[in-house]
Amino acid sequence: MENSFDYDYVIIGSGFGGSVSALRLSEKGYKVLVIEKGKWYKKEDFPKTNWQLKKWLWLPTFKMFGILKMTIFRHATIISGVGVGGGSLVYANTLPIPKSEFFNSGNWKGLANWEEELKPHYTVAEKMLGAVKNPKFYDADIALQKVAMQMGRTKEFEAPKVSVYFGKSDVEVKDPFFNGEGPDRVGCNFCGQCMTGCPNNAKNSLDKNYLYLAQKKGAKVIAEKLVTSVKTIDNDSGNLGYIIDFKDATSYFDKGSDSVKTKGVIFSGGVLGTVRLLLDMRSKKYLPNLSDEVGNHIRTNNENLSLITSRDKDLDLSKGIAIGSIFSPDDHGHVEAVRYGAGSNFWKILIIPMVFGKNVFIRIFQLLKELILHPTVWLGNYFRKDYAKRTVILLFMQHLDSTIKLKRGWFNLSSKVTTGAKPTPFIPMAKTLADKVAKEINGNAFMMSTDILLGSPSTAHILGGAVIGKDKEHGVIDKYQKVFGYQNMYVCDGSAMSANPGVNPSLSITAMTERAMSFISKK
Ligand SMILES: Cc1cc2nc3c(=O)[nH]c(=O)nc-3n(C[C@H](O)[C@H](O)[C@H](O)COP(=O)(O)OP(=O)(O)OC[C@H]3O[C@@H](n4cnc5c(N)ncnc54)[C@H](O)[C@@H]3O)c2cc1C
Ligand code: SF4
Repeated sequence: MENSFDYDYVIIGSGFGGSVSALRLSEKGYKVLVIEKGKWYKKEDFPKTNWQLKKWLWLPTFKMFGILKMTIFRHATIISGVGVGGGSLVYANTLPIPKSEFFNSGNWKGLANWEEELKPHYTVAEKMLGAVKNPKFYDADIALQKVAMQMGRTKEFEAPKVSVYFGKSDVEVKDPFFNGEGPDRVGCNFCGQCMTGCPNNAKNSLDKNYLYLAQKKGAKVIAEKLVTSVKTIDNDSGNLGYIIDFKDATSYFDKGSDSVKTKGVIFSGGVLGTVRLLLDMRSKKYLPNLSDEVGNHIRTNNENLSLITSRDKDLDLSKGIAIGSIFSPDDHGHVEAVRYGAGSNFWKILIIPMVFGKNVFIRIFQLLKELILHPTVWLGNYFRKDYAKRTVILLFMQHLDSTIKLKRGWFNLSSKVTTGAKPTPFIPMAKTLADKVAKEINGNAFMMSTDILLGSPSTAHILGGAVIGKDKEHGVIDKYQKVFGYQNMYVCDGSAMSANPGVNPSLSITAMTERAMSFISKK
């Protein structure tokens, strides 16, 4: 039987959870295959601006195979990363450790002393991802700092820890992180392009650390293949292993599917990838033992995205790293100054003035008022050639909890509110912050049109759906992230996150996966 397996573990998806699993399992002597549906992007392949839609957006129906995917549900518009390295290709590098509340709330509450247990794994995760404080503030950060001062929160304002190599700008050096075992790197030049993919080899995306080292240890990574099914060989709990089917994700014609036999499986497709696959496998009865909780307990960071455009031509709000500064304006909230690189003006076509209102009719009425009273402010944006240079995005997040459920609809996944208030983009503190920053930079506040018209928030931080629980009735995985009802099957990605961190989640996903992998013995 031993020899009839192609792999010891197949990892589905190459984001944070997948890359950590690939390295740690390879180090333990296992034969590992990582299957990723997105492309393998090198620094020269990334789009120069987000107008290069084919390289930026993932929309396979239109043969666009970029690094960013947008998925609209009734209760949230979700943006996520696609490609070898998952969300690390598009993410804004920011790696905060959540406050204690995260470790003592949600579905995993009381199942372990999470804060204590995860502490050493956060330390390893920070080291592996090369997390250091942003060393330079630029115009957008200075504006946020002034607002923090006005609100009496000067002490809370700080540079975030980010996964960027801050050597000499544009100078290439031998691997500065892993005693020469890692790839050569180049010092960051603060071009602000992190979220369209770093063209300078300065961002510590996963293909430069975990995944790079995993390959050196023997892990195989195949790109542009979509995993379509996971079946047990014994038709029961996976004691005899699994068959994984996958097919081309980027070809123009259907070339049929391939399959591999493996002893173990790690689901690391991110919330949308993992939850979709688990729901499919349960409904097709390929994995009938899965908990009924699949798709349940999905959280966002309860966030608001506002985009403030300055009328002042002298400011350059695109200069700096993607997130250069952060502060907590109150006990629950956390705000970050975010930017795109110069020329990445795509978002201007999707934004409309920031208006709050109980229902869509009130908001449309307010928008009409804006259009009549300030037509040039609104419409002028669509013609602005230096939109990214003049725009700072405020990302406001909060600890307050509410959950939604994803379930299979007629054609696709659909969402439903389960606990707490429905997620909303209309957060009073976010508006206060947007107004203050607008005043500071002589600008106007806008929001995504989907947020205002649908009344649901946009989020880059979708979490949960395969959460930790004490048993199958309360969660999909146990406290070691093993799937209830199956052998050698794990969920290691954002869908395992079982509470709202209230801050950017990638460091926590990395630390949780480090912990889960530490319980798997050597081969
Ligand atoms: C624009 C943007 C900015 C962000 N900024 C930050 C930030 O500053 N800090 C932070 O902490 N977080 C940030 N995030 C969020 C962060 O990217 C995610 O939380 C994180 O990547 C989730 O990690 P994961 O392990 O769950 O999976 P992901 O990183 O999402 O990776 C999952 C991978 O699996 C692949 N996949 C899915 N299904 C399949 C399948 N069936 N077969 C094969 N492959 C599959 C996907 O293509 C993807 O590459 C940002 C996100 C976005 C979109
Ligand atoms: S600011 Fe520019 S050089 Fe620095 S990490 Fe971001 S994209 Fe790379």
